[in-house]
Amino acid sequence: MKNKILVIEDEVKIARFIELELKYEGYEVVLVNDGRSGLEMAQEGQYDLILLDLMLPRMSGIEVCRRLRQGGNETHIIMLTAKDDVSDKVMGLDMGADDYMTKPFAIEELLARIRVALKRKEKTEKEVDGNGKIYKLKGLEVDDIKRQVTYNSDLIELTKKEYELLKYLLENKNIALDRERILEKVWGYDYYGDTNVIDVYVRYLRSKIDQQYSVELIKTVRGVGYAIYED
Ligand code: CA
Repeated sequence: MKNKILVIEDEVKIARFIELELKYEGYEVVLVNDGRSGLEMAQEGQYDLILLDLMLPRMSGIEVCRRLRQGGNETHIIMLTAKDDVSDKVMGLDMGADDYMTKPFAIEELLARIRVALKRKEKTEKEVDGNGKIYKLKGLEVDDIKRQVTYNSDLIELTKKEYELLKYLLENKNIALDRERILEKVWGYDYYGDTNVIDVYVRYLRSKIDQQYSVELIKTVRGVGYAIYED
């Protein structure tokens, strides 16, 4: 079955170009050019991936992303941003987007990222069918079958990427994980040297868990990256 991709992009030339390239690669493509219609399409249909421009008429890409995640939609979202603006990217990631590309980008790179994301999606779906696990550490419990995180039975709401990062750290507890490895394993590829995204996500996790429950769960390993130790 063809993978279905929703493209929300108002710049007609770019949108058409992406659409043609994606169709050429064998994807089914639905194209909309404003934020509100994009949100509606995403909510109504089943998509394997969403390409989301940030600067859109009728509703910003950030808002589209926020509403989708709030409604429990977990489709992989790659933001397309015209600005090489860190705060924009961070805000998008904060709202639950999975990745971003800064325009102008090489279409080959976008296609590569789409392939990686779809492959990971397949793999994740298989894992969910197969071997969900429950991780327990200190007061924390991550139930990978229910995909639920609790601390001393308090439910903790995590975004998809926060959850994946926490799970990866727990799967590899007592190991100091370097940033490059975390990027590769959790995001699926590297950001060409931009590992800041991990620090941003660790900050989110710490504010939701460590600070909330006065524990020191995620340790910074100076010069390396991060780790969760058993004691
Ligand atoms: Ca735009």
